[in-house]
Amino acid sequence: MPMSARSASLAEILDEMTAEGAAALTEHFGDASLRCYACGHRCLIKEGKRGICKVRFNEGGRLLVPANYVAALACDPTEKKPFFHVLPGSDTLTFGMLGCDLHCGYCQNFLTSQALRDDIAGVPPKEVSAERLVSLAQAYGARVVGSSYNEPLITAEWAVEVFKQARPGGFRTAFISNGNATPQVLDYLRPWTDCYKIDLKTMSDRYCPACDELLVERYGYIIRGMKIGADGLCPKCAERIPGVWA
Ligand code: SF4
Ligand SMILES: [Zn+2]
Repeated sequence: MPMSARSASLAEILDEMTAEGAAALTEHFGDASLRCYACGHRCLIKEGKRGICKVRFNEGGRLLVPANYVAALACDPTEKKPFFHVLPGSDTLTFGMLGCDLHCGYCQNFLTSQALRDDIAGVPPKEVSAERLVSLAQAYGARVVGSSYNEPLITAEWAVEVFKQARPGGFRTAFISNGNATPQVLDYLRPWTDCYKIDLKTMSDRYCPACDELLVERYGYIIRGMKIGADGLCPKCAERIPGVWA
């Protein structure tokens, strides 16, 4: 599907903020096409085309991938990542970029994760070096540096670049992912990653996919209303709701 004019102009900016993808995550073919192994889609990308995530693309037979920017940055409790068994009481400087390999309707980070995929998503990137991010972590008194918000697998090279800077400064490193990984990307991340978490990021209400009944009403992490019983069925239409309910 062609991009909207808004997404196309953001893509132009992002395409400049790139570096060559890691050899460990790229397989080249004779016709200048290549396969990306940064996530489980394992996209076969022809010359001049983009992967499903839209932020990794094939230019002249080279895989270009996001580098040298953040689209979200915050220093807050490590427990909020959430890690409950990593340096309790410490803070984590968390950085995110743009794009995702998934397209979940409930994503709480929709504005960054769905950039270039949904016309109303996308925020301007801010140029930054890995060294600068680590000096910010020092200034904030963080003990952990983490890659999260959008899907970090699709920007794995940038996470490793930042983690390589962070480790000698005494920081632990954290990766918070949707889990759609390949063995190749896990091998690539493992030497530089201390903490790895898989979750899908949402705090939204849950509706019945069959009849639209409001089933779980949330305010942040607080459950205000819960209509699904131990049987896991919608009380209105008896649809089975996927999940663990008892
Ligand atoms: S990271 Fe992007 S280009 Fe690579 S396999 Fe996943 S969706 Fe495709
Ligand atoms: Zn229902």
